[in-house]
Amino acid sequence: MKLKAGIYWGAGCGGCDVAVLDVHEKILVVAEKMDLLFWPIALDFKYKDVEAMDDGYLDIAMFNGGIRNSENEEIAKLLRKKSKTMVALGSCAHIGGLISMANFHTKETIMSRVYLESESTDNPDSVLPLEKWNGGKEELELPRFHQMVKTLDQVVDVDYYIPGCPPVPDQIVSALSQVWEGTLPEKGSVIGAGTRTLCDECPRIKEEKTITSFKRTVEIIPDSEKCLLEQGLLCLGPVTREGCGARCINSNVPCRGCYGPLEGVHDQGAKMLSALASVLEPKEEKEIDELIGQIADPLRTFYRFSAAASILRRKKV
Ligand code: SF4
Ligand code: SF4
Repeated sequence: MKLKAGIYWGAGCGGCDVAVLDVHEKILVVAEKMDLLFWPIALDFKYKDVEAMDDGYLDIAMFNGGIRNSENEEIAKLLRKKSKTMVALGSCAHIGGLISMANFHTKETIMSRVYLESESTDNPDSVLPLEKWNGGKEELELPRFHQMVKTLDQVVDVDYYIPGCPPVPDQIVSALSQVWEGTLPEKGSVIGAGTRTLCDECPRIKEEKTITSFKRTVEIIPDSEKCLLEQGLLCLGPVTREGCGARCINSNVPCRGCYGPLEGVHDQGAKMLSALASVLEPKEEKEIDELIGQIADPLRTFYRFSAAASILRRKKV
């Protein structure tokens, strides 16, 4: 018997769907083991097809993207009801992802920036999107834009998490094989990635040097053999889960943290602040302040992927 599966795209860029396609010929293995009964980005199924299913009919639903509006939330709840196993696929569903940096702005400022102020906007009547519109015969309703982005598990019960922005395609296949082989770990686990930090899988030379200055990636061409953090580039490897194969590091770019924190760590950004505190060269408060002041945009550096799942969660209004 093949497993019955669904894939859905919430608030995200679609990269996670592309990562599923990027498994190349292994898609044939997946197709042998699973029937895809819902995947709006690739197949012409409708919401009513899912609504017509018995509860728990799908063996697995993989939800990528965060929860930004009422449609995302409605479909997350629908898929939860219709699925035995719910998987958060990718950083946005797992920890909020890049899109949750929007939580540092209010809904009103986002709308104003996009529809009224942006340099490319031509909107002389200052029209903003309406949630309801009566164009004659019937009233049309658009999804409601929420005040903040939420992770999938802030809205529904989630069984497993596949991290990454996007997850490495092979990792998706390896995680799915745990489903059809019946070898899934304990509920709530991260699957398809390791349990150590990225530093543990990073091949670079670590000289145990302290940090004397911070630099942006545009300011230096780093030594490709040595630890980027020790060269002053803010690399989140010490607080990020391994499993991506150090893709950014191998391109001479510091880790931004998309695989999320390790088991037991609630706030990835705070953990990085704590890790940094132990490797700064200055010991006097004034010099420490000056050094920390060199970090460009600390909020979006430490919480680039994990704002929605952090203790902060959103800007206080
Ligand atoms: S996790 Fe990354 S690739 Fe996936 S939807 Fe979010 S932004 Fe796109
Ligand atoms: S901080 Fe970054 S560059 Fe340095 S060892 Fe860790 S992952 Fe590698």
